[in-house]
Amino acid sequence: LFISLEGGEGVGKSTQSRILADRLRALGHEVILTREPGGAPGAEDIRRLLVTGEPGRWHPMSETLLHVAARVEHVAKSVRPALDRGAVVVTDRYVDSTRVYQGILQGIGGPVVDELHRIALGDLMPDLTLVLDLPSTQGLARANRRLGDEDRYERMGDAFHARLRDAFVALARTHHERCRLIDASGTEEQVAQAIWPHIQTLVST
Ligand code: C5P
Repeated sequence: LFISLEGGEGVGKSTQSRILADRLRALGHEVILTREPGGAPGAEDIRRLLVTGEPGRWHPMSETLLHVAARVEHVAKSVRPALDRGAVVVTDRYVDSTRVYQGILQGIGGPVVDELHRIALGDLMPDLTLVLDLPSTQGLARANRRLGDEDRYERMGDAFHARLRDAFVALARTHHERCRLIDASGTEEQVAQAIWPHIQTLVST
């Protein structure tokens, strides 16, 4: 079982990924909790190239290709082996982030991202994608509280965050068979409760 969590900055993806992994482990499942960009040694090296430095350091196409390269490492070294032995994989971001950030916001184009994904990764898509949705000003406020050197996008303004949110909502609607849009404005527990029914229908125990 392959589950991805997606959404803009400060929506609570990493917190909810952790809660979800804990709940699944409590039911006896082996769970790999991972993230993108990153999640494997080479992919974490590429992450450092992507998240440090000034905005505009990379040409949008180079940035897209770096995300795809990181994903190839992540899938080959972490995701695929875990799925093959029957583990549940919970990832904080996957290809939908590339579609939104590079495909839509940076103008590479969703179909180009999809084509690169197909070439590099074949048809490996999550069984379920939880798109955490928050009014962009709320996400920005949350994200600003924990700004680090890594988070160059989080320094960008309201308009960027609003476009990001709209793009994720549109993506969730387009891929409604795989994606669930989750209201992420409540407490950690409320959001976790909103997520759980979608997981329960997929796990047997
Ligand atoms: O989700 P996380 O905060 O770990 O992501 C690290 C940074 O990389 C964020 O600033 C995020 O906006 C950015 N990112 C990106 N393109 C992606 C995935 C993440 O620009 N495809």
